[in-house]
Amino acid sequence: MKVAVYPGTFDPITLGHLDIIRRGAHLVDKLVIGVTTNPSKEPMFSVAERLAMVRREVNGIPGQIEVVEFDSLLMEFAEAQEATAILRGLRAVADFEYEFQMAGMNQQLNDDIETVFLMADVSLQPIASKLVKEIARYGGCIDKFVTPAVAEDVRRHLNGSR
Ligand code: ADP
Repeated sequence: MKVAVYPGTFDPITLGHLDIIRRGAHLVDKLVIGVTTNPSKEPMFSVAERLAMVRREVNGIPGQIEVVEFDSLLMEFAEAQEATAILRGLRAVADFEYEFQMAGMNQQLNDDIETVFLMADVSLQPIASKLVKEIARYGGCIDKFVTPAVAEDVRRHLNGSR
């Protein structure tokens, strides 16, 4: 069984992430979405909220998809999940350097696990969770970047923290 791991912060999950998940799930027998605790990024949503959000949003996407929390080294997580590939989405040149470095270092940690890059649909490529949060904080409309349920979660979160 071919298993791939798609790691990320998903704070919040966007239409770009969902497109990568749809494409990735199509390529493997099982896609494990790894939701990082990543306290260094000071996420808007707790890991429990992000797990619930990602689970709700991937419901209905064809394929075997699991959503799992992790706070270990990515390679250790991938090994524990018996994955043969790590899936990452590539947006623009800006993503490239970081992704290139991470893939290179991960390859040295475990050369049996390949990092595979997918591109989201061209219309979804500019979407970034960070900008979604910024737009929402200034009262802008985020409906083109996330699902209606996620937009509602972000609005509720911002109203709650005012
Ligand atoms: P991380 O903290 O690991 O960067 P993110 O949740 O920001 O986590 O992103 C997870 C993965 O999804 C990364 O590989 C990122 O490049 C990719 N990604 C995020 N948004 C998009 C998008 N709009 N199109 C393609 N890939 C994306």
